[in-house]
This record gives sequence, structure tokens and C-alpha cells, in this order.
Amino acid sequence: METECARAYCHNVIQQVPGMHRQRQYCSNRCRMEAYRDRHKDERRKVEQAKNAPFNHFGWRLSHELKALNLSDPDKIKRLADAIEREISEQVEIRLRIQSRL
Ligand SMILES: [Zn+2]
Repeated sequence: METECARAYCHNVIQQVPGMHRQRQYCSNRCRMEAYRDRHKDERRKVEQAKNAPFNHFGWRLSHELKALNLSDPDKIKRLADAIEREISEQVEIRLRIQSRL
């Protein structure tokens, strides 16, 4: 019996071994792995977005440098990002106060 590879866009034909075996779904290990990757693509994108979330409101320079630190603990990244943000807004506030006195 012949079936078609279950991976999207692959139309290779699979010769199924007759008998009580479980049918082969994919034509090759490569297709089997690619299909697995396709199924988990959304998950990986969500993880990637969550990793980038602490940097989203920074400019590219700062987000680049923070990412380059390669901190594995997302909490550390978040704390660092928060501290930098607070420093900046305090500096801006001080400057505004000085300006308003001039
Ligand atoms: Zn295939």
C-alpha cells in the first residue's frame, strides 16, 4: 500500500509495510523532524516574544546590549531593565525641575 508523506508540501510516496505495523507517516527522518518543528513553531515564537518583552520599550542600542549580556534568568533581565528605566526617568525629572527654576 502507498501513502503520501504527512508533512506539508512534501508529496513523496511511502511504501507501507503490510501487516499489523503502525503506518509510516513521513517519507524520511528529515520530514518527521520538520513536521515536529512546524508543530512547535508557534510555541517557540511565544517564548521568543516573552524573552524580548523586557526590552520592548528600549531603543535598539540598549536592547541590543541587554540581550548581549545573555542573562539566562528572565527576572534578572527584567530587574536590570526596570532599574535602567527608573534611572532614566529620575534623570529626566531632575533636568525638568532644574529647567523650571531657570
Ligand atoms: Zn516527506
